[in-house]
Amino acid sequence: MTNQNQRSTTIAFIGLGNMGGPMAANLHKAGYVVAAFDLSAAACERIASQGIMIAGSAAAACEGADIVISMLPAGRHVEALYLGDASQAGLLEQLKPDTLVIDSSTISTTSALRVAHAAQAAGIAMIDAPVSGGTGGAIAGTLTFMVGGSDDSVERARPVLEVMGKNIFYAGVAGAGQAAKICNNMLLGILMVGTSEALALGKVNGLDPAVLSEIMRLSSGGNWALEKYNPVPGIMENAPASKAYEGGFGTDLMLKDLGLAMESAHATGAITPLGTLARQVYALHSKAGNGDLDFSSVIRQLQ
Ligand code: NAD
Repeated sequence: MTNQNQRSTTIAFIGLGNMGGPMAANLHKAGYVVAAFDLSAAACERIASQGIMIAGSAAAACEGADIVISMLPAGRHVEALYLGDASQAGLLEQLKPDTLVIDSSTISTTSALRVAHAAQAAGIAMIDAPVSGGTGGAIAGTLTFMVGGSDDSVERARPVLEVMGKNIFYAGVAGAGQAAKICNNMLLGILMVGTSEALALGKVNGLDPAVLSEIMRLSSGGNWALEKYNPVPGIMENAPASKAYEGGFGTDLMLKDLGLAMESAHATGAITPLGTLARQVYALHSKAGNGDLDFSSVIRQLQ
């Protein structure tokens, strides 16, 4: 039910792709006043058709906003948006001092800290709040948020995050949300390759992939890919595999996340042999022209 607080809180939402679009739609449905912007006209049209106000630029969307949320592909987009680049001034220069900034993109901790420190210098509260749960979770409003920042800012963000997500985890200081997200996605990338490998082995041994999936799901090999995101077409109606690998979590985004994990491992001396291997498999898959397909299509490299 819409409460007074939601009706009087204005949210600028920047980045209306596979994740940002449904997240913005859920905020609108909950009664928040949402002003949205995306560089892609098609993404804007999809959101406008749901009654959400589209602004002419990110800066215009943020005029008078109490909260700014960004959901962009990578660190360079986030840094350009908030810090500016050769073609535009950064949003941090334009926001009113009591604005709360929530970046939900998956980016490196280094990038997140660069923006968080600039926000702090400008007197603007900022948290990193990357998500897990895929496009299904974004649509259903059941995402998991992994949040880094000051206690105060996280508590201010909580009611808004609860509209878009089911689990809100406080990971620690600024950058900690991104650190947690990178660990999770490295594991997911490894699990999807492992699951695909097992299903491919089963297939050449004459097993029905649906039967094998069910055996492994309820045995010691059970994991999230088998529960919610089977890589074989036709086994799960709503999984990207059954929609020609369209509209889920892109192979290139997984490749980006594994790159961030490797960057982090290199910087800290962590030992990540399986993350390194998984990254090579996704890199091969992307190079073969599959970068825009959902990452579960990596099974094609293993068949
Ligand atoms: P996407 O490519 O579908 O959407 C990104 C959108 O950002 C695009 O519509 C693009 O036009 C827009 N954009 C880029 N630069 C912009 C700018 N300067 N101003 C305004 N709009 C701009 O990507 P997505 O799948 O929605 O993912 C977004 C982020 O969420 C990524 O960091 C990704 O790693 C992360 N993520 C994705 C998933 C998933 O399942 N898709 C799950 C968890 C996290």
